[in-house]
Amino acid sequence: MISNNLHNAINAQINAELWSAYLYLAMSLDAEAKGHKGVANWFYVQFQEEQAHARIFMNYLNSRDAKVELLPIEEVPSSWDSVLDMFKQTLQHEKKVTALINNLAAIATEDRDYASINRLNWFIDEQVEEEESAREMIDAFEAVEGNKYGMYMLDKELATRVYNVPSPLAVATE
Ligand code: MG
Repeated sequence: MISNNLHNAINAQINAELWSAYLYLAMSLDAEAKGHKGVANWFYVQFQEEQAHARIFMNYLNSRDAKVELLPIEEVPSSWDSVLDMFKQTLQHEKKVTALINNLAAIATEDRDYASINRLNWFIDEQVEEEESAREMIDAFEAVEGNKYGMYMLDKELATRVYNVPSPLAVATE
């Protein structure tokens, strides 16, 4: 049995992942409205990834015979001053998500719930990648700041990002 404490915390995490999805969808739409199609694509892929994160946690609660409870999703901002600001907020946000995941791992460790620790290890690795990719985007956009041609080329590059189903979901659907 999963503890009540961890059950509630994972339900809250599902909400946090869906809020993240909503945040990145808002960034995607704002980028699209401002003509940055590649940036819009990058954040749309991010939106899809966050929905997958929520789904992985939902599948996990289901597999442990614990009910998923969907909570209200809070409002997100709708516009940003620049693409660089979007990526800076992305990094800030992902750092907060990392702290939430670490807290889940701390609860699972306290519970000696080894199955939950295993599932959370995937998220711990994923957060390292999320923070790294946000930092790389900040570096890239700082490098081309004020350079229209550089912005154009970078936006083109981000248009090539494609969504890949995360491994826990790919395995689950086999
Ligand atoms: Mg996430």
